[in-house]
Amino acid sequence: MKVVVIGAGMGGLALAQALSRGGIEVVVHERDRAVEATGGYRLHLDHRACAVLRRHLAPSHYQALLASSAGRQAFTRFAMADHRMRLLLGCR
Ligand SMILES: Cc1cc2nc3c(=O)[nH]c(=O)nc-3n(C[C@H](O)[C@H](O)[C@H](O)COP(=O)(O)OP(=O)(O)OC[C@H]3O[C@@H](n4cnc5c(N)ncnc54)[C@H](O)[C@@H]3O)c2cc1C
Repeated sequence: MKVVVIGAGMGGLALAQALSRGGIEVVVHERDRAVEATGGYRLHLDHRACAVLRRHLAPSHYQALLASSAGRQAFTRFAMADHRMRLLLGCR
């Protein structure tokens, strides 16, 4: 069986990794041709997200994720700002 995943976001890539590790052939299609075009993200991954990724990624990939993360101490406050970076909502 071959599975085609449309979209290389967090969900698509995690699914592809899980299927691949389960022995299923996977191909991922992504419409954005350049990673740089997205501008990148700074995502906070809570313990549930990390547990899923730890379960489904190869250990080396999960270690790479941890190594490239800013760590727990970087997430001290949740805030939403408008287009001029004026604070709309913030909580600790
Ligand atoms: C501003 C913002 C901040 C966020 N912060 C957090 C956070 O801190 N922590 C957190 O856990 N979540 C956060 N989220 C939510 C998180 O981004 C989403 O839950 C997550 O990205 C969903 O993953 P996904 O793979 O389902 O979709 P996406 O990440 O949206 O990925 C979908 C992918 O599919 C591609 N695609 C779409 N249509 C096609 C097509 N027809 N053909 C090929 N490719 C296609 C898109 O280009 C995209 O790369 C945030 C969201 C936003 C908008």
